[in-house]
Amino acid sequence: MLQTALHFSHTLLRDVIHEGDCVVDATMGNGHDTAFLAELVGPRGLVYAFDVQEQALANTEKKLIELGYQARVTLFQQGHEMIDTQLSTETSLRAAIFNLGYLPKGDKQIITKPDTTEQALDALLPRLLAKGRIILVVYYGHFGGQAELKLVQEYCQQLPQEMYNVLTYQFINQKNNPPILFCIEKK
Ligand code: SAM
Repeated sequence: MLQTALHFSHTLLRDVIHEGDCVVDATMGNGHDTAFLAELVGPRGLVYAFDVQEQALANTEKKLIELGYQARVTLFQQGHEMIDTQLSTETSLRAAIFNLGYLPKGDKQIITKPDTTEQALDALLPRLLAKGRIILVVYYGHFGGQAELKLVQEYCQQLPQEMYNVLTYQFINQKNNPPILFCIEKK
């Protein structure tokens, strides 16, 4: 059976991430992706995870402690627009993931926004290693979601094909705006 966008995002990450890598979770939420990345990078690797909500950090930290992964993750209660400030320009990243939208069962007023998503992408691309991948899973059914989808689509479309491969993955016959996945791969 075809994988959901969420499941496929993990397949695309698993393909490229190795033990010892540095990676970013740009939208930590409840920490599902953070924990997944921490497992892939292993004890010698590093995950930088960002979210604006205190609750996201608390939930993620709890999960990481249960799994014994806390030493390999740095949590920031800051927006991903701070990536450029928080990560040295020398940092080489194998991958990054965004789950755009709001936190399921959380405050639906707190959503990711096009301008800050763009700032984060601008900071990540120069730090991405060759063959590295940035995944964006875009939920767009909520108020503000269409604007963010437009930004991601236009941002990805203008990336030069000499430098990047860009993929979209989308179910086109499903109801209720299923998420659309974008994968930017550096050549
Ligand atoms: N990947 C998460 C998980 O595994 O649970 C789900 C992420 S949820 C769809 C989107 C998250 O983005 C919310 O937790 C929200 O607080 C966060 N968010 C909103 N604006 C943000 C920003 N500027 N930078 C980082 N995270 C942000």
